[in-house]
Order: sequence, then structure tokens, then C-alpha cells
Amino acid sequence: MTYPWPTDPPSPAQRHAYADAVARPFWVDTLPQRDTHPPLGETTEADLCIVGGGYTGLWAALYAKERDPARDVVVLEATRCGNGASGRNGGFMQSSLTHGIANGLARFPEEMDQLERLGFQNFDALARDLERLGIDAEYEPTGDLLLALEPHEVDELESDAELARRFGHRADVLDAEQTRAQVSSPLFLASLWTHTGSALVHPGKLGDGLRAAAVRAGVRVYEYSPARELKRSRTGVSLSTEGGVVQARLVLLATSAYPPLLRAIRRYIAPVYDYALMTEPLGAAQREAIGWRGRQGLGDMANQFHYYRLTADDRILWGGYDAVYRYGGPVGPALDDHEPSFAMLSQHFFTTFPQLEGIRFSHKWGGAIDTCSRFSVFFGKALDGRVAYALGYTGLGVGATRFGARVGLDLLDGRPGDATGLSMVRHRPLPFPPEPLRSGVIQLTRNRLAAADRAGGRRGLWLTALDRLGLGFDS
Ligand SMILES: Cc1cc2nc3c(=O)[nH]c(=O)nc-3n(C[C@H](O)[C@H](O)[C@H](O)COP(=O)(O)OP(=O)(O)OC[C@H]3O[C@@H](n4cnc5c(N)ncnc54)[C@H](O)[C@@H]3O)c2cc1C
Repeated sequence: MTYPWPTDPPSPAQRHAYADAVARPFWVDTLPQRDTHPPLGETTEADLCIVGGGYTGLWAALYAKERDPARDVVVLEATRCGNGASGRNGGFMQSSLTHGIANGLARFPEEMDQLERLGFQNFDALARDLERLGIDAEYEPTGDLLLALEPHEVDELESDAELARRFGHRADVLDAEQTRAQVSSPLFLASLWTHTGSALVHPGKLGDGLRAAAVRAGVRVYEYSPARELKRSRTGVSLSTEGGVVQARLVLLATSAYPPLLRAIRRYIAPVYDYALMTEPLGAAQREAIGWRGRQGLGDMANQFHYYRLTADDRILWGGYDAVYRYGGPVGPALDDHEPSFAMLSQHFFTTFPQLEGIRFSHKWGGAIDTCSRFSVFFGKALDGRVAYALGYTGLGVGATRFGARVGLDLLDGRPGDATGLSMVRHRPLPFPPEPLRSGVIQLTRNRLAAADRAGGRRGLWLTALDRLGLGFDS
């Protein structure tokens, strides 16, 4: 038996480690205070109204103004900008637009050369944009280590490396000793070090920097202004909030895992919750005990995987593994706290880094992932092209949202761009079935993925059938 995770319940010490943790995303909790943008309290007109003030909405607002400074652009945000997935993620910024090369090849084999090229361009341009816009998002081009914790995973690394190199990445396979020389854990059997197309950012600073840049460019931002209804109007599209109405010529929906304003989109998105813990800053001896001088982003390879990284002040963010889907797909603050996930995360953290025994977690939180069946952003238009949407990044949107925003704008403006002709942009994913079948299918799939992890990666009948149908489930 090589399965690395304990089957006993988490110990009292492992639960105690997060007992005082604040139940808020570290990235948002530690941002400098700022004034809230006032909610919409009137009827106003706009050339473009963007619903959702996460990365997608804010990048789109910024580029809409850059492309045409005379355009009047409004952002409606239900709570505070950057408080959705954009303020809760791991900050792993990747060049992939397709949730990895293997997933992209399975779904868009003809377009992968171009999608990878566009992904690299987007990744490089994002870093240049941060510089140009003066956004200090603690960008660190560290690369990442994909960690094998089981023998069958070690066997896959060489072919993963070849695939990455085929698409222009610099990637090296490290054996156990070399891997542990990078980051010290008794669980690490080998790894794939991808040096290219992978960086770390501070998610909160990225979101808040984009918001500030959009405001500087003249975008009008309304916070605590959830759009309740979207309908056709004389001028184009009318969006109503509790306090007012936006009469817009065009609308971009950037609402991620939240209930979409267009019913037709609901069947494509399943909100899946992912949870994370953040440690207190490591002391000098703790820092020494784990190595990690290269500060790479880390992730283990199983279907249920953890992602972990260092922050600028040497805390460890530890998240993932236990993706949770609830009947009906609710999203809301009450779901940010999930004791069983935190207990398991803590247990797995100390199993991975026993030398950090005694360290405590300062923050714990959860966030909803806009999972779709192809694991990558999809687009569409409605109301005769007056409304467009970009959603479905499925847990890999820190970099891809910049691409999604630009393509969404191209679609609205009717402007042929580098990507608008791609079938990845023109076609939507297969829909999920309605409830109660949806929960049944998702829970069965999660259960089978966990079983495959416990059985040395053997995928079994259900997962093999889904693979053949091009359906799947991931966070
Ligand atoms: C826990 C977690 C970890 C992740 N880790 C990574 C990672 O390491 N790397 C990576 O690449 N990706 C990661 N992701 C995914 C990434 O965070 C998202 O793909 C990305 O932030 C999506 O940005 P967005 O703007 O589309 O959505 P969001 O940031 O969710 O923004 C949507 C916004 O729309 C608003 N909204 C919704 N409905 C309405 C309405 N009716 N009216 C007004 N406003 C509305 C919401 O309040 C929200 O602010 C992670 C996600 C989670 C949850």
C-alpha cells in the first residue's frame, strides 16, 4: 500500500493547529484598508456594463477603456471587487489556457499549438501589464514542481516532461534526492520542475491593483450592487440592482461560479468549493528545515491534489484536495467555513512536513470554483450579441482571466482577434445534467476519483467512460 495519506481521523493537535485561524481569505484580510465604492443608487447609462469585479471583469473594464477611452464603462460588483475566487486562490499564475497541456490536447488537439502560443503571450503580457500599470502583486517567476508521491506517478513524469518540452517549456525530472534537496518532505518520490510559464502572485494585490488601474482609466465601479435582473431594453440591455438601473449598450458577464443572470448558462457551470489554510510566518529554524530556496509553486499529482506555496513573508499556503459540491450548487459566505476540509488539510500538511510540527494556521477559507465539463474558459453571446460571457476557468484562471476578458471584449465589439476563430472560443462545453442527477453524477465521479487515487491510479469503468465521452470533473 503506497497511498500517502492517513486513514485515521485527524488528531487533536492537527485540529488545534487551526483553532484560532481567522475565517477569511488571507489575501483579502491583509490588504491595506480602502474606501468602498458606493453602490449604484440611480438610473445611469453606459456603453458597456460589466457584471462581476473579479479578474475577468476588471481586466475587461481596463482594456475596454484602453481600446476606446471615450467609452463609458461601468462595473457592477455584488460585494467588494476581488472578493470572489480572485481573492481566494492559490496565486499560481500559469500560461496554460486549457487547464494543462494534456487536458487541452484531449479537447482541442488541432488548436493546441496556437492555444499554447497564445497562453505564453498572455502570460508574458500579464507580467508586462503589472509593470506598466504599477501593480505590485508580488510577482515571482518561480516555476513549479509537480510532485510524485506514489510509484505509479513517478513513471508518468518523463512523458509529462516530454509533452511540456514539445510545447516549448523548459522542464526537468528530478529524482527523490534532487526533489528533497529543493523542498524537504519524506513523501516526495520525484518531481517535474517546469521552469517556464509558471509564476506566483499575491491574488489580493493583483485584484486590487486591477481595480485601482481601472478606476484611474475612468471606469465607474459600484460595489455592493448585485445585478438582480438583465433584460432587453430600448437602448440595449437593462440591468437592475436594488438601488438603481444601468441602461447599457453592451454587457459582459464575468460572474464565475455565482448564479448567472442568464438561465441558459446555468447548466454549464457547477460551483465546486475548494478550501485552504495559511500558516503563520515560518521562523528561521522552520524555514531552514524545509529548504524550498527556489520558492517554486508545489502541487501533488493525484486526482485529489494539494497545492502549496510560500508567501512573501514566508508563510505556507496549503489548499485543495477536498473539492466539495453541494446539491443545487449554492454559493455564499456561509460555505466559506468547512470544518471537515480544514481538519483533513491540517492532517495532510503535517504528514507532508512533519518537521513543522507545532506551527499554527492564521487563516482558513474556502472559495467557489466555476467548474465546467471541459475545465477551461468558455464564451458565448446572448440578446443578439449585446451580452457576452467568459466563465468556466475551473480552478486555473489567475493567468487565463486576462485572456478571457480580452476575448469576451472582442466578441462584444465584433472584432476578430487572435482567438475568436478558435473552436475553443466558438464552442461551449457539454452541459451538466440538471439536479438531482447533477449531484449524483458529480458525487459518484468524486468518489471514483478518490478510489482511483487509493488504487494506484487505476481509473475504473466510470472514469474511463467519462474520459471517452469527453466529460469529466476537476477543481
Ligand atoms: C480556493 C481557490 C483556489 C484557486 N487557485 C487558483 C490558482 O492557484 N491558480 C489559478 O490559476 N486559479 C486558481 N483559482 C481559480 C481563479 O481564482 C479563478 O479562475 C479566477 O479568480 C476567476 O476570476 P473571475 O473574475 O472570473 O471570477 P471571480 O473572482 O469569482 O469574480 C466574479 C465576481 O462576480 C461577482 N458577481 C457574481 N454575481 C454577480 C451579480 N449578479 N452582480 C454583481 N456581481 C456579481 C462576484 O461577487 C465576484 O466578485 C482558484 C479558485 C479558488 C476558489
